Amino acid sequence: MENCLFCKIVAGEIPSTKVYEDDRILAFRDINPQAPTHILVVPKTHIADCNAITADNACVVAHIFTQIPKIAAAENLTGGYRVVSNCGADAGQTVQHLHFHILGGKALALEMA
Ligand code: 5GP
Ligand code: ZN
Repeated sequence: MENCLFCKIVAGEIPSTKVYEDDRILAFRDINPQAPTHILVVPKTHIADCNAITADNACVVAHIFTQIPKIAAAENLTGGYRVVSNCGADAGQTVQHLHFHILGGKALALEMA
């Protein structure tokens, strides 16, 4: 997808601090961390947001969720962590490429809205 920031990160056109990578997904550190550990996990294929998840592409989303606990363990998030995906303007989504935030490393505030 042209002009998609996370497609460019996946392609290596924009540098990122990689945490995990395989043939289908990439995890990298958020440039503006909101917690001591703040990682973004993205599919390498362009999916715009949660609304664009379909039966045909859901496999990569399931794969992301099988890797998230491994990434969290590698980051020593033994006290727990939060997984967030913002979908659309009201949620504050700023990058239109599906991504899951992993937040941890401290006791997180409980406010969700
Ligand atoms: P959203 O607000 O769409 O849920 O999350 C987008 C996230 O991408 C934000 O937390 C923001 O800090 C992060 N971000 C934006 N631009 C870049 C970048 O160029 N590199 C990295 N690593 N993260 C970015
Ligand atoms: Zn993209």
